[in-house]
Amino acid sequence: MFPSPFEYQRVNSVGEAVALLAQNPNAKLIAGGHSLLPSMKLRLSAPSLLIDISRIQDLSGIRSMDDGATMIGALTTHAAIASSEAVMRDLPVLADAAAVIGDMQVRNRGTIGGSLSHADPAADYPAVMLALGAWIRAEGPGGARVISADDFFTDLFTTALKSNEVLVGVKAGPFPAHSACAYMKHPHPASGFAVAGVAAVIWTDGMGTCTKASVAVTGATAKAQHLRATEAALAGAKLNEGSIRAAAEMAKDGLNCLSDHYASADYRAHLTTVLARKALMKSVERVM
Ligand code: FAD
Repeated sequence: MFPSPFEYQRVNSVGEAVALLAQNPNAKLIAGGHSLLPSMKLRLSAPSLLIDISRIQDLSGIRSMDDGATMIGALTTHAAIASSEAVMRDLPVLADAAAVIGDMQVRNRGTIGGSLSHADPAADYPAVMLALGAWIRAEGPGGARVISADDFFTDLFTTALKSNEVLVGVKAGPFPAHSACAYMKHPHPASGFAVAGVAAVIWTDGMGTCTKASVAVTGATAKAQHLRATEAALAGAKLNEGSIRAAAEMAKDGLNCLSDHYASADYRAHLTTVLARKALMKSVERVM
């Protein structure tokens, strides 16, 4: 199908994008176009103006900050994140997720800012953002603000971002020694989107005891969420196959899973426990 007619304007700065959004309430930003264009072709979205932010230089790239945190610009592609030495070293859970998004074409064009703003319930990054405790930076007419990942994803395809704001970047870390993280997903066989995906971050005392865990699921529920029972079971536990299996089994507690023709709610709940175990086991392998 063809999209509805629209105007197109390319901008060179975030300020220009914010000004155009303010003047055109029915405008949409376009970054990689890999979520927006399909939804326009399906007539699920019909913006009157596309504001192309893809050439704004300042929004691309990955920086290690003085405090050890990592800052990722909104226009950084999934491919750049997956192959970044800084991300692989400091936030390997994010590199894990970026590497399994869609196919090579999607990873080469799709951006982290576009993915987070779109908030597809089956997208990979939301679970990673929650598990990392990341901060999302937005700029609008009133200036810049940061939103915690916990507050950012509010519902299916809905975020705390205002319609006149541009997501400019994501900040995560630093993580102390003896911590580790990993992401595991069950991809949909056609699209590659997450039927379920679990991101885990564990902090340990360096002698095999977990001091804290942050574990989150995407794909299984309407929006990504923490697996609180699993997190609570791991805090203070000696990390071994038995304790991880028991904690992962609790992942389905209280989950209100989605159901569709490919995967029932029960199957998604089961996948969540399996993927939680695998993500935790991989984290433990990385920290030991
Ligand atoms: P766009 O399509 O350009 O924009 C998406 C939305 O975000 C639009 O509403 C736009 O206005 C808004 N937006 C974009 N950038 C900003 C910004 N900086 N600030 C505010 N709003 C902004 N994703 C996964 O997570 N896992 C998968 O396995 C996966 N598989 C895919 C397979 C296929 C075949 C396709 C087509 C897509 C797949 N995706 C998957 C989605 C892909 O990752 C998209 O690239 C991503 O969701 C959107 O990024 P984009 O840069 O293309 O955004």
